[in-house]
Amino acid sequence: MRFILLGAPGAGKGTQAKQLIEKYNIVQISTGDILRENVKAGTELGKNAHSYMEKGLLVPDELIISMIEGRLVKSDCKNGFILDGFPRTVAQADALGALLKKMGLALNACVYVEVPEEDLIKRISGRRVCNGCGESYHIHFNKPKTEGICDKCSVQLIHRKDDHEDTVRNRLKVYHNETHPLLDYYLKQGIVLKIDGTGEINDIFNRIVAGLEAGKGK
Ligand code: AMP
Repeated sequence: MRFILLGAPGAGKGTQAKQLIEKYNIVQISTGDILRENVKAGTELGKNAHSYMEKGLLVPDELIISMIEGRLVKSDCKNGFILDGFPRTVAQADALGALLKKMGLALNACVYVEVPEEDLIKRISGRRVCNGCGESYHIHFNKPKTEGICDKCSVQLIHRKDDHEDTVRNRLKVYHNETHPLLDYYLKQGIVLKIDGTGEINDIFNRIVAGLEAGKGK
């Protein structure tokens, strides 16, 4: 199974990806996570990407595309993958198409997770993430057992700078201008699976699985 999770920041792509990789025994490739790891490790890529990320802007396509090229050839992708947060521009989608073609692979679906804008702002600005393992929580919808502390590794949770409300508004603007057009791009390819991204996490997961199994994205 190879598919894209498309949706605005805060649509729950990362949360769904975590469950879907278990179900299908595939890997999650989150460009946001890879970039954050690079920023933390102080690599050249991380240094270049940092200023864009802080402002809620997209990191230049060339950097992202070469990062993905390096990732998709790794052996853990053999069984399949979920692309979470990539592609985000038409240029990235074109590059992905060319790369998969070269590898003799095709996407099963583009799963589009739809959530109303007012919910997105509420969801993202209440998000807290673990500074150690990256696990995600929410101050209202998904509280940790002890306030401010990760259930899994007991490390302090942080409020990511790019999850602050002003940056969130910027990220949503960028999403509308640069990324939302990809819905049409993949509709033309006939592989879009539209999912209602509101409600309980498990209900959304079941909707995605039912759609994928029905081959609706094809
Ligand atoms: P995310 O966690 O997916 O929302 O990504 C956090 C930030 O990383 C974004 O606001 C962008 O600055 C950057 N980023 C992640 N994925 C991409 C991508 N595919 N293209 C450009 N920038 C990206």
